[in-house]
Amino acid sequence: MRLALVVIFLVVWGLGLFALHSRWQEKQRLRLAEHTSVVATTYRASIAMFHLTTETFIRQVVQRPDVLETFARGLRGTEAQRSQARGELYRRLAAAYADLDQHGVHQLHFHSSESHSFLRFHAPDKFGDALSEIRPSVGMVNRDRQAIFGFEIGRFGLGFRYLYPLLYQEQHLGSVETGVTFRAISEAMARIDPGREYLLTLRRDLVERKVFSDQRKLYIDSPVHADFLIEDPSLKIPGAPRPAIPVLRQLNEQLRRHAEVQSGMLAGASFSLALSHANDDWAVSFVPAENISGENVAYLVAYSHFPVVAELRREYYASFVLLSLVLAGLAGLSWRLLGAHRTLRRDARQLQAITETIADGLYVMEHGGQISLVNPAFENILGYRADEIVGRVGHDLFHVHDGGRELPQADCPIIQATQKGASYHGEELFRHKNGQLLTVELDCQPLNLPDGTAGSVTAFRDISERKAAQLRLLESDRIKGEFIATASHELRTPLTVIQGYLELLLTNEELSADQVHEIETVVYDKALALERIVEDLLDVSRIEAGRPIHLDYNEVDMVREISTIVAQFRKESPRHRFALRLPEQPVVLSIDKFKIVQVLENLLNNAVKFSPPDTEIRLSGEQVGDRFELRISDQGIGILPEDQAHIFDKFHRVDNSDTAVGGFGLGLYLAKRIVEAHAGELQVESELGQGATFTLSLPLPDAS
Ligand code: ADP
Repeated sequence: MRLALVVIFLVVWGLGLFALHSRWQEKQRLRLAEHTSVVATTYRASIAMFHLTTETFIRQVVQRPDVLETFARGLRGTEAQRSQARGELYRRLAAAYADLDQHGVHQLHFHSSESHSFLRFHAPDKFGDALSEIRPSVGMVNRDRQAIFGFEIGRFGLGFRYLYPLLYQEQHLGSVETGVTFRAISEAMARIDPGREYLLTLRRDLVERKVFSDQRKLYIDSPVHADFLIEDPSLKIPGAPRPAIPVLRQLNEQLRRHAEVQSGMLAGASFSLALSHANDDWAVSFVPAENISGENVAYLVAYSHFPVVAELRREYYASFVLLSLVLAGLAGLSWRLLGAHRTLRRDARQLQAITETIADGLYVMEHGGQISLVNPAFENILGYRADEIVGRVGHDLFHVHDGGRELPQADCPIIQATQKGASYHGEELFRHKNGQLLTVELDCQPLNLPDGTAGSVTAFRDISERKAAQLRLLESDRIKGEFIATASHELRTPLTVIQGYLELLLTNEELSADQVHEIETVVYDKALALERIVEDLLDVSRIEAGRPIHLDYNEVDMVREISTIVAQFRKESPRHRFALRLPEQPVVLSIDKFKIVQVLENLLNNAVKFSPPDTEIRLSGEQVGDRFELRISDQGIGILPEDQAHIFDKFHRVDNSDTAVGGFGLGLYLAKRIVEAHAGELQVESELGQGATFTLSLPLPDAS
């Protein structure tokens, strides 16, 4: 994908560059074509100007009857008369010719109707030679008797010729011609269109054919083309071209190697091209010059500065940079978009995988409550296929309110919460497609939909099973409680009978002292222990059934009570030492004496049970603020921190405790509840192997 982007970018960039480059070249071509046509037009304009001058001169000066009469006379007469007429003609026209010369028109040449030279104003002594051979134009004007003009290379030089037939009294006398040098033409062109340099270059083959051999030295090789010549500028002859300025020499070097110049000049094409030299741009235009028969005989080469090239080049580079920047910007943007798109697609795929694999049912609702998406778990839990449910309102379809009553969607707590932008969490009833009611635990989060409205996404799980299990558990707990209560109740009656019977038995005087001792210490004590367990169980089942512990309050002096209990323990457990520290004054509390004694006995029993013989059990009681605190410490096995948290739970026994000394695990459970029923506290501190300290605190009467 990224590779494709790079390729597209490069292709677009390449095409853009190509288009810009073509536009640049096209503009330059158009500008060059303008140069070609300007030069061609200027050339034609200057020729037309000389034409006008010549024509005016011919009409007003030459075609005067006296002049024509003199010429006619000269043509007809004897040699002497001819030369007289020639002289006369020369004198008559000398002033006008000088004026013509001033205007750049240099030749004035009369020919006979047989195309022989009659009078050359620039060489009056040279006449009578036949011209038709080397000057086809003279022959043509005398044959067709129509004015003609064109570029012509003659034996004595080249120039632009204007030829007119001369008539006198209906008689064709011959012809007259004027000529303009290239230098005159180029100067006229410079006046019309300043800022150009010109070069006239002539076809070598034509020059070599026409020009007298002694005249050939007037020509040198053309600097632009091997098949062309130019007039030698170093010769000081009138009308010779000006020497080329140095920069033109450099340009000509380039032209000479330029393929278009070489082929174009041979083909006679008009064209211009752009060259540059020393950071300067030039336009060089080539315009062919034709002779009277329309033959291409020479080339006019015009040079001018061409600053527009630099402008176009700048424009091209600016567009190039702009195009590259814009494309690079676009490419960068696309690159990032592509990256973002990929991440999005990956996220979407992951999200889809997640929603499809999670066990929770999931659905997305639109603002109006219509479902727009469900996951496979939804289909499994509620029995609807996605295509059956998408687009329908979930509330109407499967959401059931307490007791199955109808509730308008607007009053549905889920819809209300999410439309306020809040989330919703709770247990709800959903109806399976087959009608079965399911308890679901659901979480609903508001969702901003792409159209700007508030929708929601809901995840739910079927907790019907769990609910049922909980109910079953509660039920079995209740049954168990009931069973314990009934069982212990049932046990108590026979136990009381046994105790009563034993007491009766002990009154029997026939029993030996040993038998009495056996019954008292073994059977009767066991029956008492059993009774204690049964009592504890009964208490527990009462608490479990939610009944509060019943307390019979008496005023009890704790100092005395504790002393009595300890005295009894000293007697029963002679191998332990009991250290007692109590206030000197009585501390009277309002308590259920029987129950608090039960707690104290339990704590002391444990201390004895879980500490080795010959260790000390310390009891210290004191008033702390508005409470009486009693601490019972032993030096026994201690309790692990993790066990300390649980020893007040029912049936909890620490694993490492010796089973031989273990009980039912109900003592501390009941003790804590009894103390708490007195608004007191029971806490433990211990370190394993370092013994345990239980702190019992009970409120003083004033405080309660
Ligand atoms: P039991 O009737 O089994 O003694 P209790 O509720 O009185 O039940 O005690 C629960 C458990 O707490 C005991 O089994 C024993 O593991 C631990 N325990 C109680 N008192 C101490 C003590 N002073 N030192 C060490 N462990 C004790």
